[in-house]
Amino acid sequence: MYAFTYHRPASSRQAAGLLAKKEDAKILAGGHTLLPTMKQRLASPTALIDLGACGDLKGIVRKGRTIVIGAMSTHAEVAESAIVQEAIPGLAYLASHIGDPHVRHRGTIGGSVANNDPAADYPAACLALGATIVTNKRKIEADDFFTGLYETALEEGEIITKVVFPVVSKAGYAKFRNPASRYALVGVFVAKRGSDIRVAVTGAGEGGVFRWPDAEAALKARFAPKSLDGLKHPAEGINGDMHADPEYRAHLIGVMTRQAVAQATGK
Ligand SMILES: Cc1cc2nc3c(=O)[nH]c(=O)nc-3n(C[C@H](O)[C@H](O)[C@H](O)COP(=O)(O)OP(=O)(O)OC[C@H]3O[C@@H](n4cnc5c(N)ncnc54)[C@H](O)[C@@H]3O)c2cc1C
Repeated sequence: MYAFTYHRPASSRQAAGLLAKKEDAKILAGGHTLLPTMKQRLASPTALIDLGACGDLKGIVRKGRTIVIGAMSTHAEVAESAIVQEAIPGLAYLASHIGDPHVRHRGTIGGSVANNDPAADYPAACLALGATIVTNKRKIEADDFFTGLYETALEEGEIITKVVFPVVSKAGYAKFRNPASRYALVGVFVAKRGSDIRVAVTGAGEGGVFRWPDAEAALKARFAPKSLDGLKHPAEGINGDMHADPEYRAHLIGVMTRQAVAQATGK
């Protein structure tokens, strides 16, 4: 490690003040991505602003037809939340399948969304559910938030304060996970909100999370796994690496989409 200063503000407002004052400062949430990155010298902030004591970034509440999740909520808190389990069980299921218990008890929804790892689970839920990412400065629709590999619409000094998920009538998630890291080789989140169907795929896109319009159109006719019969995702534009080539990942997109719809419909 190398020298950096450590700060632990008591609110997101104080954190924003520190971020504005310190040059090359970085926010620290669960640290599950940031600390390994610093150890590998891929990031070298001069100051760490730890959000761990910011009470205003914690908590999960239902507000009308939405679920509001504080940015510092851990994956375990989302998975175990009675509110999330009741309103959007597919989201609780997703959170319960992130990494292992250590990761779930340290990693946060804000950190995961801000990091936008192409194999992370939450980006698929945000995009499929039509979530709103709320920062200390503005509200950003998920459609506009995930802009590329590890890229988001966040600007310098912007802090995610919460993620707002609309309560939909049906939602489900299925992932084929890398057995070592548990990240998604392919993960698919499906959501039905009135006549609006959204299918979002993580782990497979060269540019990160993306929607699959052909599956959305097929499911619009009837929201059932059978509606996807014969539908294949092309391998063009799909990731290939030592774990799976593009053809295999493309095949998994179809399989995971069927499983996610089956979970959402209880069939
Ligand atoms: C072994 C292992 C297995 C994992 N498996 C999975 C998996 O299966 N699925 C999955 O989705 N993820 C997985 N993860 C990732 C993990 O779930 C964390 O979500 C992820 O590392 C980032 O969250 P964090 O809270 O640790 O953020 P940090 O590492 O603290 O921060 C990550 C980045 O986001 C920024 N940031 C953090 N919070 C905010 C905020 N509120 N506003 C603005 N910027 C912010 C930081 O500055 C940093 O750049 C795994 C991680 C590990 C180590």
